[in-house]
Amino acid sequence: MQNIFNFSPGPASLPHEVLKKAQNELINWNNLNVSVMEISHRSDDFINLIENIKKDLRELINIPSQYTILFCQGGARTQFSAIPMNLLYYNETADYANIGHWSYKAIEEATKYCKPNIINPVKKKNGIYYIQKMQYWKLNNNSKYIHYCPNETIEGIAINEKPIFNNKTIIADLSSSILAKEINIKDYGMIYASAQKNIGPAGLTILIIKKDLILNKNKKRKEIPSVLDYTVIFKHNSMFNTPPTFSLYLSGLVLKWLKKKGGVKYISKINKKKAELLYSTIDKSEFYINKIKHCNRSITNVVFHLKNPEKENLFLQKSQENGLFYLKGHKIIGGIRASIYNAMPIEGVKKLINFMNDFEKIYA
Ligand code: PMP
Repeated sequence: MQNIFNFSPGPASLPHEVLKKAQNELINWNNLNVSVMEISHRSDDFINLIENIKKDLRELINIPSQYTILFCQGGARTQFSAIPMNLLYYNETADYANIGHWSYKAIEEATKYCKPNIINPVKKKNGIYYIQKMQYWKLNNNSKYIHYCPNETIEGIAINEKPIFNNKTIIADLSSSILAKEINIKDYGMIYASAQKNIGPAGLTILIIKKDLILNKNKKRKEIPSVLDYTVIFKHNSMFNTPPTFSLYLSGLVLKWLKKKGGVKYISKINKKKAELLYSTIDKSEFYINKIKHCNRSITNVVFHLKNPEKENLFLQKSQENGLFYLKGHKIIGGIRASIYNAMPIEGVKKLINFMNDFEKIYA
């Protein structure tokens, strides 16, 4: 029985079984008598690993053939510039919804390549934050795509609404929600995520993109660095430069683990349950507060404050002593953040809830 639970927002905890398997085969992978980190990315064994990851992703997310999967580096943040560079010609523009910190960082970067149409759908009513429904978002008729981040990792605010912009290319940063809940990939032109929250170790960024967005472009900026050029990455099967081999290997193990568990459909039910248990503990108490409207609460990053902020350091210290690790909220928001991605078992959330209840009894 696990008694330490890691609520880190990312790099985040990985399934224990996966780490054990990696440990067992660290110095002898695939009976090659060397580790996976020590072989060529162009060897048959490694190519096979890459193809298996794509196959498993296709199965888990139900990705049709008109989409391609690209493995990139530089984190999601690199995509903040790679996206406008690849998808916008000079003088073209895009819509960007500003929902929180990471949305804003994407906007800042896009501003170097275009004059984005910024939508600010986060509103506050009676002290509660909510995100305006998409039907009220004012898009630019000429924009080439709309970019948004449906799960803001720092604020714990989320768009749980299905995208409604039928005639627009939708691009979503799913860094903290990919594989946590079901999506219909056909709603999007492109989704992307860095691996270190719900897929594997840092170093890998996964893009799932409609092929026609990258292959049929007749107008393309000249200055795109080759390593960031989607067409180049596609044509080189994501191996234009050496890919992050260990990160890919471990991510592959996580995907197999998820498939064995029952896939995204299964894990999304568990994730929903974990989030419900935690939010209901917060809502029932006079001691903990969350100011986000129910329909816009993140199921992967549960952010809350103590009514008395002076007790937050003590909360963090005591929780750590009780085997509940890395609960400190991001410095721009403060408070507490419990990141409860796929690898967090429901027992971890129950242990956190028991701790919260006990802490409240003593310190309220
Ligand atoms: N987008 C989101 C939603 C994130 O949570 C993060 C990282 N926490 C990023 C982008 C940036 O990712 P990276 O550090 O991999 O560039």
